[in-house]
Amino acid sequence: MEKIPELYGSLVFNDKVMRDKLPKDIYKALKKTIEKNTHLELDVANAVAIAMKEWAVENGATHFTHWFQPLTGTTAEKHDSFINPVGNGEIIMEFSGKELVKGEPDASSFPSGGLRDTSEARGYTAWDPSSYAFIKDGTLCIPTAFCSYTGEALDKKTPLLRSMDALSKEATKVLNLIGATDVESVTTTVGPEQEYFLINKEDFAARRDLLFTGRTLLGSMPPKGQEMEDHYFGTIKPRVSAFMHDLDLELWKLGIPAKTKHNEVAPCQHELAPVFDTTNVAVDHNQLTMEVMKKVADKHGYVCLLHEKPFAGINGSGKHNNWSMSTNTGVNLLDPGKTPADNVKFLVFLAAVIKAVDDYADMMRLSVASAGNDHRLGANEAPPAIISIFLGDELTAVIDSIENDTFFSKADNVTMEMGAKVIPHFTRDTTDRNRTSPFAFTGNKFEFRSLGSSASVADPNVILNTAVAEVLSQFSAELKDVSADEMDAAVHALIKKTIIEHKRVIFNGNGYSAEWVEEAAKRGLYNLRSTPEVLPTFLAKKNVDLFTSHGIYTESEIHSRYEIMLENYCKILHIEAKTMKDMLYHDFMPAVSLYADSLTNSIISKKSVSEAIKTTADEKMLAKIVDLYEELSVVTEKLEADIATAEAMDDLLATANFYHETVMGDMNDARKIADTIEEYLPEDCIPYPTYSKMLFYV
Ligand code: ADP
Ligand code: MG
Repeated sequence: MEKIPELYGSLVFNDKVMRDKLPKDIYKALKKTIEKNTHLELDVANAVAIAMKEWAVENGATHFTHWFQPLTGTTAEKHDSFINPVGNGEIIMEFSGKELVKGEPDASSFPSGGLRDTSEARGYTAWDPSSYAFIKDGTLCIPTAFCSYTGEALDKKTPLLRSMDALSKEATKVLNLIGATDVESVTTTVGPEQEYFLINKEDFAARRDLLFTGRTLLGSMPPKGQEMEDHYFGTIKPRVSAFMHDLDLELWKLGIPAKTKHNEVAPCQHELAPVFDTTNVAVDHNQLTMEVMKKVADKHGYVCLLHEKPFAGINGSGKHNNWSMSTNTGVNLLDPGKTPADNVKFLVFLAAVIKAVDDYADMMRLSVASAGNDHRLGANEAPPAIISIFLGDELTAVIDSIENDTFFSKADNVTMEMGAKVIPHFTRDTTDRNRTSPFAFTGNKFEFRSLGSSASVADPNVILNTAVAEVLSQFSAELKDVSADEMDAAVHALIKKTIIEHKRVIFNGNGYSAEWVEEAAKRGLYNLRSTPEVLPTFLAKKNVDLFTSHGIYTESEIHSRYEIMLENYCKILHIEAKTMKDMLYHDFMPAVSLYADSLTNSIISKKSVSEAIKTTADEKMLAKIVDLYEELSVVTEKLEADIATAEAMDDLLATANFYHETVMGDMNDARKIADTIEEYLPEDCIPYPTYSKMLFYV
């Protein structure tokens, strides 16, 4: 057995390595930069670069890269070697502070949504010292932010860091106002639970839909799906277990605190959760986790599917973004705690989150919108597209008691204590589990459950941080002129007012029910079912104001991101539609036609033996197959024509809507017929591995 504590973080230039390798004054300067976000002097950067290179070379690295997160949603890297020729055919291994701090990759092939002229290809990457450098495949990876020549963010990290700063600033202001004068900064923390599927490599390779789109576009349900729920938390099969063990080791080496693993609801579906970390680090780690999952799967003869809906009729995959805020003094602001003083803080921040989610539910929905995730949200599975908050019975009772506090207006301090006293101490596990809620309070944090499994968790955290920062800034404005002896009453009034105004977003019932859809509409909550429907809300004035006023996105950054998301949606649907058309024309329809031939031949040959031999069964089957085949041909022709129409369209939003309404409609129609035919086809006539084969391997 490997020695885990030694293994853990062995490929990371972490605090311990820094302490060991850096001169004391350099270490101190770097720590200050990391913790206080201060500017890093070049001489410090040079010293850090030397130590980093030495450590990396000792650990087998030959190259370095600025590792960044372009708007493709994945990560990017361009490797440079450390070698520098010094004449006489000799080299030295070199790495300077300048190379550490800044890179200039050619940005022309990354999506910019029109932010950059194609002639101006240059982009900058800038070191993010708050996320440790690490070694991956013999390359020293330096986490960086990525922006254009003119300074506009072209990545997911930059706005995330900006949003963390905004939240820290506004939260600190409020805390200082309400008496927590010792607080200097607030960080947000995230623990993302990651779901995924494992299927056999051969099956993956034999299906062009999986190959090109990551999900199956055809395939009828096996006799047994997930209805028995016998997979959830079930015994992990030895081969899967070997994969998980390897995965843990690889993640631990990278300092990623992988903690829990279990089988999920669907067959072949699993989950991994790390221990939470600072948001920025958690986001980087989640990107790395997805990459490592794919690599390790490959070694074990699997393909790891991260798509949100690889199999129709079977649960898709998501991520649960566990989120909280904590002060530099070590207080988790969403922990109800035991003492009344802490409870007031808790109630202020709880109220802020409730208001933030209500005010910016559209942006939360947007932050998780993608073609893949549309198959989950608002479709027939968890969680719904309507963003609401689950508080649980106990906390709801607290909120109710504050709201209905009749003697508040006279007896100020009394109520404050009342509000505090009724709050029981929550231990993490006493809160009820409501799996249908998109945003649930779970003891000492909120769990945002609408995230898609393949997407970066950066965007949802940008909106959470920013929306809460905005509400906190409004709170500060209300409290800033209140005198010390009136503060308690003012805070209480503020909490009460916020609850009354925003309690419509709280819903503890079943989020899947049809009644909730109706009820939510009555309450005026958003129900944005698809990506083309939600995307235009990005440009709404209230949302542009939100992001620009906190310095998260400039107006042009918003427009560029809007365009990229729309474009991306259209591209994905285009690829899916074409892949489906190909599968139908090249694989499936010929297979059906051949089977019809074999039935015809069977009838003829039976009759040639004797007219008396019955061929009714063959004839019935033939008639059924031929009818369906004709229907399928008509729908496939329509699909083909609609793809051509979409290709000829100019307006991005109109195209996205056309894909969503018309092309997807064709695909659903074609699939329905094809899947019905599949049920009649002999196994060896089906031109790709079936759901049964893929999902019930041993
Ligand atoms: P469940 O599946 O029951 O929701 P898990 O244990 O799988 O619970 O995941 C809970 C996640 O929440 C873990 O990643 C955990 O580290 C994280 N978490 C716990 N406390 C916090 C916090 N204060 N901030 C952010 N995440 C947290
Ligand atoms: Mg969870």
